[in-house]
Amino acid sequence: MIISLIRDRRRVFPLFVLSCVGAATLAGGCVGPRPGDRIKRCGDEIVVCGQFFHTGVPVVLWLDPKGYDAYRIENRFESGGRDSIPVRKGATPNRYDSVRRHLSEADAAIVRADGWSLSMLQQYVDLFVLHYDVCGTSRRCFHVLHDRRGLSVHFMLDLDGTIYQTLDLKERAWHAGPANDRSVGVEIANMGAYEDPAELDAWYQRDSAGRVVLIPPLTFGATGLRTAEFVAMPARAELVRGRIHDRMLNQYDLTDAQYASLTRLTATLCRVLPRIRPVAPRNVDGEIRSTVLSASELADFSGILGHYHLSESKVDPGPAFDWPRLLDGVRRCR
Ligand SMILES: [Zn+2]
Repeated sequence: MIISLIRDRRRVFPLFVLSCVGAATLAGGCVGPRPGDRIKRCGDEIVVCGQFFHTGVPVVLWLDPKGYDAYRIENRFESGGRDSIPVRKGATPNRYDSVRRHLSEADAAIVRADGWSLSMLQQYVDLFVLHYDVCGTSRRCFHVLHDRRGLSVHFMLDLDGTIYQTLDLKERAWHAGPANDRSVGVEIANMGAYEDPAELDAWYQRDSAGRVVLIPPLTFGATGLRTAEFVAMPARAELVRGRIHDRMLNQYDLTDAQYASLTRLTATLCRVLPRIRPVAPRNVDGEIRSTVLSASELADFSGILGHYHLSESKVDPGPAFDWPRLLDGVRRCR
């Protein structure tokens, strides 16, 4: 009976899970999935401590063809020898750290010896930091961040809603200064916010149908967008004006595709790393704050932040970023 079942590996597999030692012995150690069987992915998975989690929206990993690999120490786009690599802190050509520095001594020793477990990462990561890239496309963002500035971020979100993951979330990416230890970050493709709206004229133009569209900058001759002929219309056609810190700024909104993917990504993070709460800092009136948090406010907060909540010198993700759209969407996903 056992021998006849083993001949049909697909049918016997569920039984094999329950009795693998005996079956493996009888079959000479070769039952269950065949060596070399390909594991199918859906193309929507992110990686956290080596485990795959679905998001429901397109994700390209650093492992994938045309992915962006922040583990590599060489430049991605610009040629040059080892001397051209930006070396930070005088010790490593890496653009990230494998140990988050707010670990207890005992946990840091465990991570050094055995690596991260998901349960340990869940204790230590409680912030999701949103940036815009002032690059317009994820391809150009990686070029500037990795090749030129020697920095890193876990995710990039392109105009067409494609999410690129560049590092496992266990790594301490270099994107948010003192919040790097506690956070996961995303760079959202957008041309940014300016006091003078004329700064945006070079990138946002009306097409033949009269729609305002972002004409993404070409880096090395290509946008890198995965969606051919993608038309990058801001979710709101009009320029959005608003105050960040004490500065009145003008900015065009993200695309609908970016909101759809960011919502699903945020909902995924809030579930996989549950100390990241689906909330953003608010003022006493209940409005999303547009000012920096004090050190004690930041210490007490866990959830979703803009970069401007961390530093007075930063204004991303800008006044056009639609916080209620993100937060309401995340609640509906849960
Ligand atoms: Zn930023």
